[in-house]
Amino acid sequence: MAHLSGTDRSQLLLLPEAVDDYVGPDNPVRFIEAFVDGLDLAAVGFERVAAKETGRPGFDPADMLKLYIYGYVNRVRSSRRLEAEAHRNIEVIWLLRHLTPDFRTIAAFRRINHSAFRKVFREFVILCRQLDLFGRELLAVDGTRIKAVNNKDRNFTRGALSKFIREADEKLADYMKRLDDGDAEEERVGGDSRGSGCKIAEKIAAIRDKRARHKAMLEELDRTGEDQISLTDPDARAMARMTKVGVGYNVQLAVDTKHKLIAEQEVCNQVIDLGLLAPTVEAAMKTLGVETIEAVADRGYFKIEDIEACEAAGITAYVPKPLRGPAVAQGFFPKEAFSYDAAADTYTCPAGQTLRPRYYGKLRENVKVVYCDRKVCKSCGLRPSCTSKSYRGVTRLENEAVLDRMAARLETRPDILDIRRENVEHPFGTIKQWMNQGAFLMRGLENVRGEFSLTALAYNIKRAITIVGVQGLIAAARA
Ligand code: SF4
Repeated sequence: MAHLSGTDRSQLLLLPEAVDDYVGPDNPVRFIEAFVDGLDLAAVGFERVAAKETGRPGFDPADMLKLYIYGYVNRVRSSRRLEAEAHRNIEVIWLLRHLTPDFRTIAAFRRINHSAFRKVFREFVILCRQLDLFGRELLAVDGTRIKAVNNKDRNFTRGALSKFIREADEKLADYMKRLDDGDAEEERVGGDSRGSGCKIAEKIAAIRDKRARHKAMLEELDRTGEDQISLTDPDARAMARMTKVGVGYNVQLAVDTKHKLIAEQEVCNQVIDLGLLAPTVEAAMKTLGVETIEAVADRGYFKIEDIEACEAAGITAYVPKPLRGPAVAQGFFPKEAFSYDAAADTYTCPAGQTLRPRYYGKLRENVKVVYCDRKVCKSCGLRPSCTSKSYRGVTRLENEAVLDRMAARLETRPDILDIRRENVEHPFGTIKQWMNQGAFLMRGLENVRGEFSLTALAYNIKRAITIVGVQGLIAAARA
């Protein structure tokens, strides 16, 4: 049997007469059109919203925004590929009414309007809020690292620069000695060592040159107070090794657990997540229009000042305590094995002994108190499992009650960490794999923020279409 052969290219067909006939009522481009047309682009912050009185007419920012939203929803992010789609893709032809901006114009639009994309993202969150797609009760917060346009060979930490300069100095000293030895040998035997001497001189010049560049970078770090420098994208940072991203950015998401929609997103170049919980959730609360909310995050966010800031902002935080500290590292009883009695201000140790406050000190902004009882520890049979010293001291910060309250909450919600994982992994997985967001295309923190706002917006649009359909979204956008 023959294969399917298609139709004859010269056969006359009764094709639809208008481009509009090719775009069905449930095509997402119809929502993109309705959504962008409903935005006040000047208020959102787009440039050149009003057409110029004179000169060659430019493209309407509304059309360019539609093109970008369409591109990000359909995994087309590069300006050259968007230009190509405007020529051959019937959905884009419909969306742009046959307009065909070139890639330079498309790229410039994204570069100029990076800060407005974030506001567009928030406008869509507000639209989803009106459709009751956000539960506004629990947010799952997490961060991921996304690669920047900066090879790791073009990123230098202060330590790496100092090491290189030290090694260069050692090599230079060695080469200089070899040159001197060569000269002495030449004088002694009356031979000619100019050949090898030239080669060494070339090597010395190359090392000196490289050393000077590294020294200049180190001086730049001293001047700025930073601890690393990236040459291609100066805002990008070398991320922690276990993230597999050499040099990149830290992307934070606050995901509403009702429908796994992104309530807030932020990109920063901080390597670790410590201290990012309260600011991320507070920004989400503003967009969601709530005074209080619950937020769950992983151990990487465990920082007492951040948990305190959450309480002050009306955020009920759930962050498990990481198992770290010298006692854990040495295999002794962790601090959790000691129970605190707030009324008596004492700890009860694993041997059932009462430890009272003894020493006071300063740790960060908080007063640190050490609870211990040297006498009972001395004769304790559990001491080998408790400490390598003559007694065990348990430290407590002045504001540690905030952590006790959170630990008590976590005990009542044992399922909440699984809820966090299920909810936050969905958008990250989708963004990184399905949406092909393996790396940023733009350079600079502000540009990258704009780029990720488009990515998060595209994720939310796809998700909302799955939940309420294109027609439901169009009706909400036009309401
Ligand atoms: S060593 Fe001291 S703190 Fe540790 S279990 Fe014994 S009595 Fe308690």
